[in-house]
Amino acid sequence: EAKRAGRNTFQWFDKALNDEVNRALLIRNTVQKGLDKQQFHLVYQPQICLEAETVCGIEALVRWRHPDIDGLSPAEFIPILESSGQIIPLSYWIMRQAFSDWHKIKPYLAEGARVSVNVSTVHISRSDFIEQLERVMLETNIKPSDIKLEITESMMLRNAQTAVATLDKLADKGIAIALDDFGTGFSNLRYLTQMPISDVKLDRSFIRDIDTHKANQAIVRGITSMSHELGLKIVAEGVETLSEKAEVKKLQADIMQGYLEATPLRFEPLIEFLTKRHQ
Ligand code: C2E
Ligand code: MG
Ligand code: MG
Ligand code: MG
Repeated sequence: EAKRAGRNTFQWFDKALNDEVNRALLIRNTVQKGLDKQQFHLVYQPQICLEAETVCGIEALVRWRHPDIDGLSPAEFIPILESSGQIIPLSYWIMRQAFSDWHKIKPYLAEGARVSVNVSTVHISRSDFIEQLERVMLETNIKPSDIKLEITESMMLRNAQTAVATLDKLADKGIAIALDDFGTGFSNLRYLTQMPISDVKLDRSFIRDIDTHKANQAIVRGITSMSHELGLKIVAEGVETLSEKAEVKKLQADIMQGYLEATPLRFEPLIEFLTKRHQ
């Protein structure tokens, strides 16, 4: 009986694994068609500067309305496309779309606002990344001072020297760099001084329940004061409640992003949101 249960468990596990592999295969095999058939779109999440209470940036986030997979999230398909290299054509599509939409969004935002685009490690590590980025910038007529690239520290783990060199070149051109999901993974504090970053985005895992979670308050307070001494801004990710917002404000975070102020919005609803907010 035990043996049978064991075998059933194994079969169940095997099936789950198999389903996952099949999903990944389906995702890989349909991405080009998805691009051709315009199944991708962007949503934009407003970022609020806490002192002035203005919308001082937006983050572009990709969505894939997949004909055969309901509710497919970027957290699932991005890593799959990273491992196959297919993230690269998608990434150019994302930048081109975000940069061309930007011209119509910028007038509604605070002075100095930028559009943030997430870039994958795999992409930014390519030797032609800067050249290709500049081509898209030229095509879409966007300035370096309008752009912020969000990177995660995983890129540093792979090839620290080349990565820093690339980031230095981008920063020299006036493109801002934000370190995303800070506090997850290996968070080497040295990155904060070695990389030309302007913002540290504190992962939502530190912000969730920050109003009652003393240990997280201590961590956020510490990272914030250290970042400020280094001239970096702190972005609190995933602020969902008024008391979380009050707490991150108290802890001196500079910028917040989260469902409390706005969920990621498609272009039209975003313009509507920004119009209403400025009335
Ligand atoms: P991320 O860059 O850290 O993006 C923040 C994620 O948190 C987004 O999820 C956003 O919708 C979600 N979020 C924002 N506010 C709240 C909140 O108040 N509560 C909660 N629970 N969640 C909130 P999303 O859009 O599903 O993206 C997940 C991840 O997928 C992103 O994390 C990013 O790493 C990746 N991703 C998304 N779009 C792109 C893209 O265009 N290119 C690349 N390379 N990666 C992307
Ligand atoms: Mg991000
Ligand atoms: Mg993040
Ligand atoms: Mg993330």
